[in-house]
Amino acid sequence: DVTHGPILYLEDVSVSFDGFKAINDLNLTIDDGELRCIIGPNGAGKTTMMDIITGKTRPDSGSVWFGSRHDLLRMSEPEIATLGIGRKFQKPTVFEALSVFENLELAMATDKRIFPTLAARMSGETRARIEEVLETIHLKEWHAREAGILSHGQKQWLEIGMLLMQKPRLLLVDEPVAGMTEQEMERTAELLTSLAGRQSVVVVEHDMGFVRSIARKVTVLHQGAVLAEGSMDAVSSDPKVVEVYLGE
Ligand code: ADP
Repeated sequence: DVTHGPILYLEDVSVSFDGFKAINDLNLTIDDGELRCIIGPNGAGKTTMMDIITGKTRPDSGSVWFGSRHDLLRMSEPEIATLGIGRKFQKPTVFEALSVFENLELAMATDKRIFPTLAARMSGETRARIEEVLETIHLKEWHAREAGILSHGQKQWLEIGMLLMQKPRLLLVDEPVAGMTEQEMERTAELLTSLAGRQSVVVVEHDMGFVRSIARKVTVLHQGAVLAEGSMDAVSSDPKVVEVYLGE
């Protein structure tokens, strides 16, 4: 459950690839329970920033803290994942031959080699959590169907549901609405908005209409640093932001 105050801090973070500064003195604070959108032109450093948070990429300098106790730069990628930081990549990767229910069940298993297909072996707690997540991702009626037959949007929601099974404290979501229909986008906005408050959610997204529909606070990245931060109305009328988007 959420406390108050920041859950994630990046302070003066920089990383170079072959002498090119992909992240350049980046400072970012995400509050517990917040829903934040990160936007910015191609090459702004959005993916690299997510990679730094999850420990996939090591910065050259700066610090990254999760809450006040966990120095992420001293932890390995798997250790960071156990803190409750879940990442959803752009392409859905659900198990197509398994049912929706089984996908969620598998996501709950701490040891992925143990797959308790027999419902009798499943704890009441796991079953209750699956029911709760099915409700959240609007797939209750689909629980027994093969994941392979779901629409693209439903697969994205199922994958978010798989991350929710572990009760994450911070969800990082990469371009959730790419390829979605208008109606699926509305459903996704509802879903992400409903998650905020229960955990923090950071969404990287290109679709400005979508960002406007969900975000309370938007961070604009440019050349590896924060160019502007605030409401969508404030950042989209900021001359610095207008200039970098016109230049795309
Ligand atoms: P965004 O996600 O905002 O489009 P990225 O974080 O993918 O931006 O990339 C930021 C910059 O860093 C880009 O110029 C990209 O080419 C460069 N970059 C990212 N990862 C690597 C890498 N592993 N090796 C070399 N250059 C990289």
